[in-house]
Amino acid sequence: SYLYEIAKAAGRQPVSFEIFPPKGDLTLEAAHEVAAQLADLVPDFVSVTYSAGGSGNKQATADVAAMIHDDFDIPTVAHLTCLGATEESISHAIDDLKRKGIASVLALRGDRVPGAAPAEDAPFRFAKDLIMRLADEGFCVGAAAYPEGHIECTDFKASVAHLKQKQDAGACFFVTQLFFDNAYYYRFRDAADAAGIDVPIACGVMPFLGKAQIQRMVFMCGASLPSPIIKLLAKYEDDPASLRAAGIEYACAQLVDLQERGADGLHVYTMNQPDIARACTSALRASWSSAASGERTGKAGDRADDG
Ligand code: FAD
Repeated sequence: SYLYEIAKAAGRQPVSFEIFPPKGDLTLEAAHEVAAQLADLVPDFVSVTYSAGGSGNKQATADVAAMIHDDFDIPTVAHLTCLGATEESISHAIDDLKRKGIASVLALRGDRVPGAAPAEDAPFRFAKDLIMRLADEGFCVGAAAYPEGHIECTDFKASVAHLKQKQDAGACFFVTQLFFDNAYYYRFRDAADAAGIDVPIACGVMPFLGKAQIQRMVFMCGASLPSPIIKLLAKYEDDPASLRAAGIEYACAQLVDLQERGADGLHVYTMNQPDIARACTSALRASWSSAASGERTGKAGDRADDG
């Protein structure tokens, strides 16, 4: 995918950020302020989430993605979900994306509403159905990957097989669900390799900021909480500022390890908080330059990602 080419040419991994469009009445100004701060960090791309539910403005994602591209010259990826979508609503969304000059889309099914199973005959039952449609329309299409398996799918092998179907449908890059133990990513990447998945699988990393946030995320996506995090949550139970700082530090350490071990890409869930993106970028750059200077002086240089 073109999103990964600049980084690849520079011999490093792509670093990208996720943001969400302002909720409720769209204020492009608020998104503009966040985007300006993220643009200063020169990410390889910024992705903008999509919310199908409620009375939200369905064009907000495309508007924010276009704004980031047009005002800051940063490549953007607009997320799009297809749960409950019709041929007509998807055509409408595609027209809107094209009109706004969006070239790249992260194609998702969307989260199920509790108790409402997706209709078996829905035109876009799985993300792969949307991927196929968007690829046919000429978009650069990305999709979601789940190193610990998707919450509705308890079979790891089936998770990998579903990922392969997404690649076969036209996905040319993946971004993972958050995980707090990098071992899950390494195992998943190996399984994906064995299944013939040869497009980049970028790591989605989200810092934990507080107990309520982490509980919500874990229950929503089924990610495992390793014991060092549980201990930090206990240690800083009454000190939210220190807990937030510890969460960002943990995410930075995760990213540096993923970079050093040659993960395909590093995608930070910024939650529209630019200081998170700043801390992650600094940690990655510091580690990158110390590895590069080690290589120059013939020391260290045990990076595994040069292939
Ligand atoms: P699918 O790939 O369709 O998978 C859904 C379920 O069906 C899985 O359990 C899968 O294993 C199973 N499955 C797939 N294919 C088959 C098949 N052929 N037969 C049987 N079962 C199958 N949600 C939003 O609403 N907005 C966003 O902006 C958003 N951004 C996200 C970004 C990332 C990086 C990630 C990882 C997730 C994001 N999500 C977003 C959440 C996503 O919508 C949910 O995780 C959703 O539950 C599944 O989406 P999917 O695209 O992976 O679906």
